[in-house]
Amino acid sequence: METESDARRNETGANETGANEMGGERRGRDVVVVGGGVAGLSAAVFTARHGLDTLVVDAGGSVLRRNARLENFPGFPVGVDARRLLDLLGEQADAAGADRIEGRVTRVERLDASAADDAPPEGGDGDARRFGVETESGDRFAASNVVAASKNEVGYLADLAGVGVVDRGKAYLDVDERGRTGVEGLYAAGRLARKPHQAAVCAGHGAEVGVTVLEDAERPFYHDWVTPDGYFTDRGRDLPPGCEEIDATERRERESDARERMRSAFAEPHPDPQETHPSLEE
Ligand SMILES: Cc1cc2nc3c(=O)[nH]c(=O)nc-3n(C[C@H](O)[C@H](O)[C@H](O)COP(=O)(O)OP(=O)(O)OC[C@H]3O[C@@H](n4cnc5c(N)ncnc54)[C@H](O)[C@@H]3O)c2cc1C
Repeated sequence: METESDARRNETGANETGANEMGGERRGRDVVVVGGGVAGLSAAVFTARHGLDTLVVDAGGSVLRRNARLENFPGFPVGVDARRLLDLLGEQADAAGADRIEGRVTRVERLDASAADDAPPEGGDGDARRFGVETESGDRFAASNVVAASKNEVGYLADLAGVGVVDRGKAYLDVDERGRTGVEGLYAAGRLARKPHQAAVCAGHGAEVGVTVLEDAERPFYHDWVTPDGYFTDRGRDLPPGCEEIDATERRERESDARERMRSAFAEPHPDPQETHPSLEE
């Protein structure tokens, strides 16, 4: 059965960059995010908004989909449907310019930069394509950076020397305080980085890792801020990289669009069936 999420992904064309089109060809990306739960999607919003060519590969099973009612996510005082939140977060990643495909990553390998088919694009982070990323269906991507946000799945990293896996009954990756693993260019975000098992914490960590990717790539990143017209420039300051000043008309237009979109997003209950633990499904 096609869920609302599937329909929306088809509508937005997120699948068009996926298995069928790629057909096994290796295409270069600045960032490949493995896992499209709250952590991975939040990371993608930050890297894509800053212009890094970002691809999210998601096997489609964020555990948050099993939640009955999300009541502790900041900004929703009476709670929010977790599936709706995930859909909106995916939409936000699309709007930021990220591509998303459904697929399971089966392997990440070190790539000899000269073996990658294409050089980093103009405006990319300038790093060599360090990684080859393969999916179950045979798609292959070259990536300068990989953000692993796959909760407890780490098997696809087995061929990378230097990745610290911590086994606590479930697998986690060993990271520093900014989500960097022992392999340059490989990051872990969210639950996989042993963050507390809460959606807001994992989303926040994904955002932090996204910013870390930008900082490590020495992008001229200040803060991803949208400020009132003249906030910086009327004080004789240059507009800092990553910031945008908007005037009152633009602000009203954006607010109007947002109100309309949110009204329609919350007009009806989410149609996807309530999921539970796989062991209870019989
Ligand atoms: C029943 C239940 C109720 C919950 N209720 C709450 C709550 O009320 N409040 C709260 O704050 N938290 C709640 N949580 C916890 C919350 O869902 C998690 O902490 C949060 O989703 C973790 O985010 P994440 O992005 O790290 O992982 P996930 O959201 O699980 O995302 C990981 C993604 O990676 C994908 N993936 C895995 N391996 C691969 C691969 N090899 N290739 C491609 N993709 C891959 C998965 O398909 C998945 O989409 C609940 C969890 C459960 C199970």
